Amino acid sequence: MISFSSFRTIIIAAGLTSLASVSHAQENETPEADGFPQCIERLQQQARNAGVSESTTVDILGQTKPLPKILGYDRNQPEFVQTFTGYFSKRVTNWRVDKGREKLAEHREFLSKLTQQYGVPAHYLIAFWGLETNFGGIKGKIPTIAALTTLACDKRRSEYFSDELVQALLLLERENLVPKDMIGSWAGAMGHTQFMPTAYMKYARDGDGDGKVDLWNNELDALTSAAHFLQNLGWQTGFRWGREVLLPDSFDYQLAGKSQPQPLSFWSEKQVTQVSGKSLGDSDLKAALLIPAGHKASAFIIYPNFDVILRWNNSEYYGIAVGHLADRISGHGNLSKPLPDLPNYTVAEMQQFQDKLNKLGFDVGEADGILGPATRKGVREFQVTIGLIADGYPSLETVEGVKQAPLNVVQEETTEILESIEN
Ligand code: CA
Repeated sequence: MISFSSFRTIIIAAGLTSLASVSHAQENETPEADGFPQCIERLQQQARNAGVSESTTVDILGQTKPLPKILGYDRNQPEFVQTFTGYFSKRVTNWRVDKGREKLAEHREFLSKLTQQYGVPAHYLIAFWGLETNFGGIKGKIPTIAALTTLACDKRRSEYFSDELVQALLLLERENLVPKDMIGSWAGAMGHTQFMPTAYMKYARDGDGDGKVDLWNNELDALTSAAHFLQNLGWQTGFRWGREVLLPDSFDYQLAGKSQPQPLSFWSEKQVTQVSGKSLGDSDLKAALLIPAGHKASAFIIYPNFDVILRWNNSEYYGIAVGHLADRISGHGNLSKPLPDLPNYTVAEMQQFQDKLNKLGFDVGEADGILGPATRKGVREFQVTIGLIADGYPSLETVEGVKQAPLNVVQEETTEILESIEN
């Protein structure tokens, strides 16, 4: 194991700077200078303008109290960097695969009608449901109106949550709900499929024909809503999400990344194949290559439907988890390679690593501690310079390489000046 302690000492100033800016932001909790009552007045006006009734505006929104713990959840910074291994192994579990297959069998007839109507195969609908709430097991118990009001009165994303709150009030009226039944995640996502109020109002549908759209208690409503939502997000009927692939030993890893799609024929020419060894074919379907856990682990080719999954939840890890879980539920096997066992980098360590890469001239963007596309790109460029396989993954060798890489004289002087200012 590599120790980060000396590395941490050198770059600690950068970390302290970012902590300071967070606590500064926390000093002004509400966008209104005068606080919560004024915020409620603003929200009531916004609700009236959107057509919410006077009784809901006064008796429900007017009586809503803030939930301070919500801001704690919103401010909570993870201690460790989210790795693909950690994310994937917690989400694509044998339990979810088995339960998903049970649900697929239970609703088979209904699901096949949904597929005919909306064009989305059943195993994807089941996979979304499983990942969002464990098939309805964990839907969240926080009162949605109070949660959204709290977030709307907090300056960080006030406009977004104010709009969602108004949609929640309209939904409450449309579906004849009472606030205590309208519950979900701390950020306002509700029911089996964790729809935000805007998505619920626009895309949720009555699946069992009882005239109500109930994503909390009705599985058929939830599955129908997921199918309708995915259709509207642009699902391309007849295409997969992507698939795991094998790369040749000589593969040029600089070709990887979601922002570099190529026709399937291009990847076939580069000897990228299905795991079975079968060809990917020579169609002009655009596909990009993802290598989320380094060159020793599984690689994935992703098709346009992968972008549709990311419009539901904008995370490449989520997209691979949904796609692979759907495959498993429909009978496919596990990944062909084991998930790599990598060190748990803390966010602070990752920020130091990013900061050093920036100082070395490899632009990784803001040192935010997140393993995003910009970081992967900068890591790939660095890896080439020290003769490592440029898979964009911060392996131990890569992290050690960055740590040892000397800054040139000008860079060192700049760093010293910056550190003396920060101290
Ligand atoms: Ca219904």
